Amino acid sequence: MATAKEKPGVLFAAFEATPFLKTGGLGDVAGSLPRALKKKGFDVRVVLPKLAVIPEKYKKKMNYITHFYFPLGWRSAYCGIETYTYRGIIYYFIDNESYFKRDGIYGYFDDGERVAYFSKAICEIIPYLEDFNCRILHCHDWHTSLAPVFLRECYSGNELYDNIKTIFTVHNLKFQGQMSDFVLGDVLGLENVPAAANQLRVDKDSINFMKGALVYSDIISTVSPSYAREIQNPFYGEHMERIFQRRWDSLWGILNGIDTTFFNPEKDRAIEANYSKDKMKNKLKCKLALQEEMGFEVNETIPVIVMIGRLTQQKGLDLLTCVIDELAEQTLQLVILGTGDKEYEDMLKGAEGRHPKNLRVLLKFDEKLSHRLYSGGDILLMPSLFEPCGLSQMIAMRYGTLPVVRETGGLKDSVKYYNEYTGEGTGFGFANYNAHEMLFALKDITSLFRSNPKVWRKLMKQAMSEDFSWDHAAGIYKEMYNTVLEEN
Ligand code: ADP
Repeated sequence: MATAKEKPGVLFAAFEATPFLKTGGLGDVAGSLPRALKKKGFDVRVVLPKLAVIPEKYKKKMNYITHFYFPLGWRSAYCGIETYTYRGIIYYFIDNESYFKRDGIYGYFDDGERVAYFSKAICEIIPYLEDFNCRILHCHDWHTSLAPVFLRECYSGNELYDNIKTIFTVHNLKFQGQMSDFVLGDVLGLENVPAAANQLRVDKDSINFMKGALVYSDIISTVSPSYAREIQNPFYGEHMERIFQRRWDSLWGILNGIDTTFFNPEKDRAIEANYSKDKMKNKLKCKLALQEEMGFEVNETIPVIVMIGRLTQQKGLDLLTCVIDELAEQTLQLVILGTGDKEYEDMLKGAEGRHPKNLRVLLKFDEKLSHRLYSGGDILLMPSLFEPCGLSQMIAMRYGTLPVVRETGGLKDSVKYYNEYTGEGTGFGFANYNAHEMLFALKDITSLFRSNPKVWRKLMKQAMSEDFSWDHAAGIYKEMYNTVLEEN
């Protein structure tokens, strides 16, 4: 059997990962993909910032490894390393209270500096990781995007680092880390490195962290095949499309999976009653309990539509803004769980005030409540403007709640649209980003729900039979890892 030292080591770097922290899909992926990759023969370890908001029960179990200082621009930055093994995966936590001891995770005035610090710390800790043959540094989203840049510009010539290939995965292209040019010298200390300065610069006054990762990494990936194609055109490319076009042969699109142990209606303790695709009766109990909890009429014939996610433009909130009243006037019940932009939160709260009988807006992040919605809903609405992958639609299908999605990105790759002639399908789609197209689709779908329970039940069963486990995706990641390791 290969020892840890012989297995190719993959250092996974992200700002959030379940069970320590989660604000969205990145947390789910960074929490569950490493375990699937480990089963494929890689020694995967995860590096995260030791954020103050990590629950105490985990923090108190972390073990101190060492500490040291490294240069960050003109600063000498403290870097502590702590470790904790969870479900067979070794996690390293980077400790620096001045950057990470905050009430929240993101959204601070010095996020650029925090991210630059974290990216450099990822490179700095590598020599301290025992029994680890680090061959791949796999970075996720803009919070880690400078690590591939630092790795090449500050550490090359050192055999340990020269042996490492870099992969950068885009989960969210919207947040790129566009900073003033001043940061290049003051924080990154790269103003006198012409290659880095040229690659990071987007215009004469600003640099872009994610651009650094996209040009420096050996391979770029994103979280669905459709999104990998879409970002090569300007509508989806967020000004990075030229890089994606140029690097198309190093660009992989791999559809995410979900943690099917955690999201499991047969065993989930957060829901009213457990059920499976072969024993569906209890799903109705979940629905009736949800109707009661929301203060709605408890009536199995009224379709319950749920929406779970960030309340942002990406998630299609503009479509909802246009037709929320028309939608709420239908015979249906709508529950929205999420937090996000104030304008959308206000719009939804206003609509709830006008439609108290069948519209509930819950402005919070609540994992357990989300499970009650996934299990109690009949339909999950996900009308995204763009969607790199999307996990909510997969979780919904796992719980037999049929997704209604706009046909884009990972939604297109994970939902099979209902075909009324063959009876095939696991959900529904509408093509154009148009509020009335969404509304008319929902009218048709809710009418199918009421008029044809037999078809509906079949669709639920088909949705629940889909395999969204990580195993398939991990096989493609393995291929990607082997490809990058074979490159010179
Ligand atoms: P994102 O673009 O935010 O990453 P995804 O669909 O990929 O969207 O993943 C969102 C994840 O976060 C899902 O697990 C979803 O259930 C969860 N989630 C989003 N908003 C909330 C919320 N308000 N409460 C509980 N869970 C949430």
